[in-house]
Amino acid sequence: MKLRKVTAASATVLALALSATACGSDSGKDTGSGDGGDKKITVGIKYDQPGLGLKTPDGFTGFDVDVAKYVAKELGYAEGDIEFKETKSADRETALARGDVDFITATYSITDERKQKVDFAGPYLLAHQDLLIRADDNVTKGEDLNGKKLCSVVGSTSAQNVKKDFAPKAQLQEVGTYSECLNGLQSGAVDALTTDDSILAGYAAQEQYKGKFKLAGLKLSNENYGIGVKKGDKEMVDKINAALEKMVKDKAWNKAVTDNFGPANYKNEPAPEIGNIVK
Ligand code: GLU
Repeated sequence: MKLRKVTAASATVLALALSATACGSDSGKDTGSGDGGDKKITVGIKYDQPGLGLKTPDGFTGFDVDVAKYVAKELGYAEGDIEFKETKSADRETALARGDVDFITATYSITDERKQKVDFAGPYLLAHQDLLIRADDNVTKGEDLNGKKLCSVVGSTSAQNVKKDFAPKAQLQEVGTYSECLNGLQSGAVDALTTDDSILAGYAAQEQYKGKFKLAGLKLSNENYGIGVKKGDKEMVDKINAALEKMVKDKAWNKAVTDNFGPANYKNEPAPEIGNIVK
């Protein structure tokens, strides 16, 4: 009898411990009700893309960061409730599938391939693939890159488009982040860095690269930036779309554009319509 009692008590303790652990592991998430409260929301961004997603000693800045803050606020989270996490290009689908982040605003293009694994709200920005080259170089079309040394990022549409479409014979070096390509471009180890013009404009405007690099201005693709969420979370997609629509309507979108793209003189496209993917 005594033994049974102890066992029952232990079972209760164990059950409590398990439920506490379950709560603990889920403490950052309140994606269901969206009313926030004292809960946190985890957002995936880039850490090394000035103008879009940048980690600085004082916090996080960029267009994607401002979009994330606006959306989080609409979902019921104050700025202090947001935990930003780095999601490199190749890690985004896994981060969402594993629940490491609640949503991703990280120059994340909506593609059919990615839609097999994640869902997207948006689009909220239309960018175009381009090349960053040394100021004294000239490239007039994508095919000029065949045989040249190109740097891009693994898991990006930028690297994929080079291989599939415009320069299959380029010597493509794929690294983890775009900023890793910049040294190579400066030293001459690579001839060009390729990704979205929005990202490249941010690098070109950085103090240490001023006058050294330029964008080729090629518009090699359409990159429709979406907000990635876990596959199947339609409620979250709908809520984020409503937030994005509001952000455009109340001009917070324009302000985010001016604040973040102004310094790099990036001439962005007008705000896209939600659900309208430019092929
Ligand atoms: N927007 C492109 C993509 O989603 C390139 C930028 C990036 O790697 O984040 O792949």
